Amino acid sequence: MTCKVKGILLRISPTVRDERMLTILTDRLGCIAVFQKSGRKVQYDQFYYGEWVLYQTGGGNYLLNGFAPEELFHPLREQMENTFLASYFAQMVLYFGRDEENDCSELLPLLLNGLYLLGKGKDPLLVKSVFELKTMQLMGYCPTLATCGHELTYFSLEDGSLCCDACAAPNKSVRVSATTLAALAHILNKAPSKAYGFSIPKDDLLGLSLLAERFSEYHLELRASALQMWKDIYHE
Ligand SMILES: [Zn+2]
Repeated sequence: MTCKVKGILLRISPTVRDERMLTILTDRLGCIAVFQKSGRKVQYDQFYYGEWVLYQTGGGNYLLNGFAPEELFHPLREQMENTFLASYFAQMVLYFGRDEENDCSELLPLLLNGLYLLGKGKDPLLVKSVFELKTMQLMGYCPTLATCGHELTYFSLEDGSLCCDACAAPNKSVRVSATTLAALAHILNKAPSKAYGFSIPKDDLLGLSLLAERFSEYHLELRASALQMWKDIYHE
């Protein structure tokens, strides 16, 4: 059976046989493994986006029949730090994608917009914060934004509730400004493709970035090598 899906290539791995395994985030099948004979001359790179023509075998495996490119994200590759950040996004999607119960299809527009904006020169801290928080929300880790009823100065890493100095759990909370909180609400309320549409002062953005990263680290057992590589070379 042949089918066509829109998707972005996240990972290329060799297999024991004469094949490559491509992991593709698709619009309606989530994250899937697709096998490509390595004898084929055509090679695809990470982050190639377009229409993939697949053949599904009786055993349920997908074999690659063809690819029509739509966006290859060349501008993204011109800067090493953007490449690392994009790889971190891919690692995050792959982390959720290995569990078939997670429907990762909704992450596709989020990732495509994030990569596009990085290539366009949008502030990487903003793109990264939105990608992390929206991915967490879509994959079932939505901050509750429940409040303690006092002046809100802390974000709880446990459940994403908001509280005051007195109610905040030590080491499990991140200090936040009112502007950071407004940005957080924007991200959670907007559709994946619109979540990046805001700007805030640098100090508030640094706060948002810290919150987003610590919230994902707190809940996921993701050892993202690309995140560390990005941090090693990123300069504000
Ligand atoms: Zn309180």
